[in-house]
Formats: sequence, C-alpha cells, structure tokens
Amino acid sequence: MNVSCDDCHTIYDLPEGKEGIVGCPFCEHVNRPKQERPARTAPLPDSPLFDHSKTMLGSLEGEIADERTAVRRAIAGKRIGLPTNLDAVLVVLEGDGKGKRIALTKHRILFGRKQADVVLTDPEASRQHCTLLLYGDFAVVKDTGSANGTKVNNRIVKEGLVKSGDSLQIGSTVFQFLLSSKAVPSAGPSRRNA
Ligand SMILES: [Zn+2]
Repeated sequence: MNVSCDDCHTIYDLPEGKEGIVGCPFCEHVNRPKQERPARTAPLPDSPLFDHSKTMLGSLEGEIADERTAVRRAIAGKRIGLPTNLDAVLVVLEGDGKGKRIALTKHRILFGRKQADVVLTDPEASRQHCTLLLYGDFAVVKDTGSANGTKVNNRIVKEGLVKSGDSLQIGSTVFQFLLSSKAVPSAGPSRRNA
C-alpha cells in the first residue's frame, strides 16, 4: 500500500503486514498507515534529527541545513521508485571499473565495501558509505557516516539531490548518474506520446 511518510513526506510502497516494522526508505521513520482519520497532522516541528551542536563551523552548518531543506523540499510528496519511462544508470567515470555502466534496477542502492549493492574495492570508501534513493526522474544521496564523505558535483554532502548528468564521488570512485530513454522495442514508423 502507498504510504506518505510523516517525517519527510516521501511516498513509498509499504508491503502488507510490514506496518510499524519497515521504515521510510529515505528517513527510516516508521510510519503507520492512517486509515480513517485524514485528520491534520501537526505542522512539521524542527526535526530533532538535526543536532546543531555537532557541527562546529557556522557556515558549514548553514550549508548542511540548506542542503537538507532543498532535499526535503524536492522529495515532499514524491514517490520513491524507479523512473517509469527512463533507464537510470551509473557510469563509472573514475576509479575501478572505469567506463562501466551500472543499470539501476532498484530504487534504493547501497554503496560500500561490504554488503552493498554497488561494492567498491576502493580503500577510501567506507564499509557502508552512502545510499542512493531514486525518486523517478531524480535521486537523492545520503551519506551513511562515511569516513571520507560523499560528493555531488564535487561538493561534500550529507544529503544531496542528484540529477541526470550529475557526478557522484564515493572515495576515489566517480560515477555519473544518467537517465536515458528506454530502449523501446521498435514500434513502427510513427512515434506517439500518449
Ligand atoms: Zn521519511
């Protein structure tokens, strides 16, 4: 069933029987399906997840907060999932497997040296480095506490929006995230967009 996360407002599919067990793919908040009462939920409080005391540099703190706001804004009300009309791929631009194309067939991809969907042999990558979540025509990357950080277009991010053409750097491995037209089985001479 479709659930809208109370915390980040991502819409995702929660399998029957997993209510109260499986959390939001983005923020891990465990949502309970609201059946009858579409009663107004309280306005979003300042999330306690963001601990201001942990960052030392004022400007960096501001940047992280901005980035987080941008991500929240982009994902609110969006459905997590693979793009419907496009193929999502990662092209390895630098590092091990340079030139390789990785077709993304899941909406949640873990990167790391161990137990990851994309296993990196890079010593600068952490065991569990980051997670890429697909929201149809864009993606969001979340650093999962890596030692060396995650970069989008050369900027270190904790959470960052990733659009087609953007680069994603994990340790010394650089990927490019690309959405491309699906290889459509030939459908005759006329092209129609419904
Ligand atoms: Zn959420």
